[in-house]
Formats: sequence, C-alpha cells, structure tokens
Amino acid sequence: MKNLCWIRRDLRLHDHNALSHSLKDGETVIVFIFDQHILDKLKNKSDKRLTFIYDSLAEIEKQLQKKGSSLIVRYGKPEDEIPKLCEELRIDKVFTNRDYEPYAKKRDELVAKKLKASGIEFETFKDSAFHEKHEILTGSGSLYKVFTPYKNKWLEKFEESGKVIPDYKCELKNLRKFSNPKNILETDWYKVMGFHPSPSVLKAGTNEALKRLEAFENHMNKYKEARDFPAIEGTSNLSTYIRFGNISVRDMIRSGVSKRSEGASTWVAEIIWRDFYHMILDTHPYVEKESFKREYDQIKWLGSDEDFKAWCEGRTGFPIVDAAMRCLNETGMMHNRLRMIVASFLCKILLVDWRKGERYFAEKLMDYDLAANNGGWQWSSSSGCDAQPYFRIFNPYTQSEKFDSEGLFIKQWVPELAKANAKEIHRPDVLLYPGYPLPIVSYEKNRQRCLEMYTVVKKS
Ligand SMILES: Cc1cc2nc3c(=O)[nH]c(=O)nc-3n(C[C@H](O)[C@H](O)[C@H](O)COP(=O)(O)OP(=O)(O)OC[C@H]3O[C@@H](n4cnc5c(N)ncnc54)[C@H](O)[C@@H]3O)c2cc1C
Repeated sequence: MKNLCWIRRDLRLHDHNALSHSLKDGETVIVFIFDQHILDKLKNKSDKRLTFIYDSLAEIEKQLQKKGSSLIVRYGKPEDEIPKLCEELRIDKVFTNRDYEPYAKKRDELVAKKLKASGIEFETFKDSAFHEKHEILTGSGSLYKVFTPYKNKWLEKFEESGKVIPDYKCELKNLRKFSNPKNILETDWYKVMGFHPSPSVLKAGTNEALKRLEAFENHMNKYKEARDFPAIEGTSNLSTYIRFGNISVRDMIRSGVSKRSEGASTWVAEIIWRDFYHMILDTHPYVEKESFKREYDQIKWLGSDEDFKAWCEGRTGFPIVDAAMRCLNETGMMHNRLRMIVASFLCKILLVDWRKGERYFAEKLMDYDLAANNGGWQWSSSSGCDAQPYFRIFNPYTQSEKFDSEGLFIKQWVPELAKANAKEIHRPDVLLYPGYPLPIVSYEKNRQRCLEMYTVVKKS
C-alpha cells in the first residue's frame, strides 16, 4: 500500500494516531498543506503562529531526513492539493487525524468526496481529543452541558479502562525514502505565501514541548495554588504546543496522572476542560457565531467602538486589564486568570459583545483554538454552557489586588505605573501618574448598567 499521512494540527512524529496507522498499513509519505483558505484571512503578514508552524515543520523535516525521507509541503487549497498529490504519488489511502472545527469538518468532507471519486480511501482518527463526543455521555445517553459531571464521567471512564493511555507508536522505518530538493529547509515558503517570518516568542517543536513538560513536572504539585498568579510561572505554558500538536494530549495526561498530587489532578482537570470544549464545538457548531444559550443573543450591547479600541490597545485606565492586553499584543500570550478578567471586563463593564473580544483574541493568541477560546468567552459573558451566572461580575480592582497583590505583573507591562506602590497600583490616583489614562468608564456605574442590559435574558 502507498499511503499519505496528512498532518495539520498534529505537528509531531510520535504518539500520532493517524501516522501510526498509516505506517503500519504501508509505505508512507507525510504531507503538510499551508492552507490558503486560512492564510488569506490573516491580516498580519508576519503572524507569529505561521513562524511557529514553519519552525515545527523544519524540526520534523530534520528528523525525516535522518530516516532518508522528507516532508512534502504545499501551499494552496487542500481540496485541490491533496487529490493532486495523491495522483502524482500514486497514493492508495490517506490517513489524517480528526479536527472538530466547523471549517475543518467541511474541508475534510470535501477532500474525502474528491478522493472517493478517484477510488482513494480517506480515513480519520481520534488524536487531538482524549475522549470524543460520543464517548462521554450521561446515563440516559445524552451529551453533558455542565463541566463537573462531564469531568466526573470522564474520570470514571478512565478509571474503568484501567487508566490505559494509548501510545500510538510510529514506525518511521516504513516511511517512503526519497530525496526532496524542494523540502522546507530549502524553500522560502514565506515568499511563496506572501508572509514574513516573525521573531520567535516561543521556540517551536516537540523537543521544546517535552522539555517544558519535564520542567513543569517539577512544580506540578503546586499547580492548584500557583496557577492563578500571572507574575509567577505557575502553569505549564504548553497550550501553544498542544494547539499545534508538538506534544500529544496523551503525553500531557500521562504526565499528570503519574504525579498523584492535588496539583496534578487539578492540572488534568484543565485538560479535561479542553476535551469538554471540543465536544461542545463538535456537537453545537452554531456556537462559533451564536450564543450557546440562544436567549443571550437578544442582548443589545451598549458599549462603544472607542471603548473596544481602548481595551484592545491596553489603555482603559484599569491597570490589570491594560497590563494583560499589552502583554497579549506584544507576545501573543495571556495567563488564564487574566483572560477571565479582561473578557469579563469587556462584556460586563465595557458592555461590548463577547464576539468582538473573541475575534480579537483569535487574531492575537499564539495558542488560539476556536473551541477553547469560544468556550472561554462564552463562559465569561455568561452566554455559554456551564457559564458563570450573568449577575456575577468580576471586579477588576479586587481581582488585581488578589492575584497580582504586589503589582509585579502590572509593572512589567505598564511602565507608567512603575513607581506606584502595592496599595496604589490597582486603582491609581491619576494625578500622581499623569502618563497613565483615566478610567474610561466607572466600574460601579457600568456594573449596574450591565445588570440592566442582561435583564432581557432574565425575562425571556
Ligand atoms: C476568554 C478565554 C479565552 C481562552 N482562549 C483559549 C485559546 O484560544 N486556546 C487555549 O488553548 N486556551 C484558551 N483559554 C484557556 C486557558 O486560558 C489557556 O488554555 C491557558 O491559559 C493556557 O496556559 P497553560 O498552557 O499554561 O495552561 P495550564 O494551566 O498549564 O493547563 C494545561 C492545558 O490545559 C488546557 N486548558 C487549560 N485551561 C483550559 C480551559 N479553560 N479551557 C480549555 N483548555 C484549557 C490547555 O491546553 C493548557 O495548555 C481561554 C480562556 C479564556 C477565559
């Protein structure tokens, strides 16, 4: 058999379900397509994520060359490129891992249909999720809409399985051997695609991901207490690596369950949130554009474009929000506690539609993942499944006092407040710090306006 393994958000050569099956089944070539449909939508022509992908592919290419093989890379529309490659390489079967995003599902259907017409099989595998949609169901066979019972069922199933975590070994000796003068190390794909490399904020690739996991294992037991404080390294910082599949979800769970501490269990629960949001997107694809709880789409958002712009630029006059947004703009990363603070602030204090914030994060986040981002935004705006109640509104001042008590994170990103002391920094007197903006809204007043704005939901 001549097989093609199409990699997408699974940029690694170990514990890879589709690749493992493909290599067992026959001689395999590995292919990556820079998808024109996706890249055409990117406004920033030196998007950091493209550099991350490029560097991940370069690492793969080096590994493949050691085995006498090479990665085949193309730029174009996958529904054209995959069938073309199958014809050129006389492929019998295409193997790939499943992706649960609405665009990806349509793309795969189209590719499968085209291949079928030429007599080529297209087989997909579970890989990115530990459990897929129909694996975790309630006693009556329906889908969960609340996280905690979902997590309990997930853990129960894991326990029942004898805590088995599959490891999809990849027999690289079964790769097709060939020389590829157009390999990624020798072709300037940036130029072909009309992009430029960006300075790397995160070193891409599997080696780096596994190193980070190992480093995190040394303090995983402290995760439960440390994870909420943005000024310290309390979390794994693996989200970009799992997003692009430099590391597998099973690598992470294997590490978490081997540690047996409260910190490790809390960390595994976060990875279960990831499965939960993927299941929600897979089974309720409308959430991409609409509220999970549809009545929330009746809200008439009162916020202004100017306030949205100030939020994006980190000049709202609320130090913790501004520090978080400036960090995002500069690095493409943001701590989870800060994501919750700025998202709640946008929807509930600036009264701006959650979709605008969600789109802004989609443009900026290195680890942007439609399912997790949408889930996080809908949780924050209270429109999602298992969201916080709409009348629970984060107070940015007290959140700041609690989670950045010394103002260390704020000082890192808001130099105007470098001289503020720990007491002043959360709600500074603007007369003392003239370079820093006045708060663009009153927290107390807008909190009240928010409750009124959301009453439409209560009535429906
Ligand atoms: C408004 C908002 C938007 C978000 N957007 C994204 C996004 O686009 N991509 C993304 O991966 N996460 C998103 N999250 C979830 C979370 O903030 C990040 O996963 C986390 O900050 C990544 O840091 P870490 O790798 O150090 O996580 P750790 O705390 O070490 O957690 C380990 C892993 O678990 C997963 N995880 C952790 N928390 C969550 C969560 N709440 N939901 C789903 N998965 C989770 C991630 O894969 C993460 O790498 C969002 C959260 C909010 C509130």
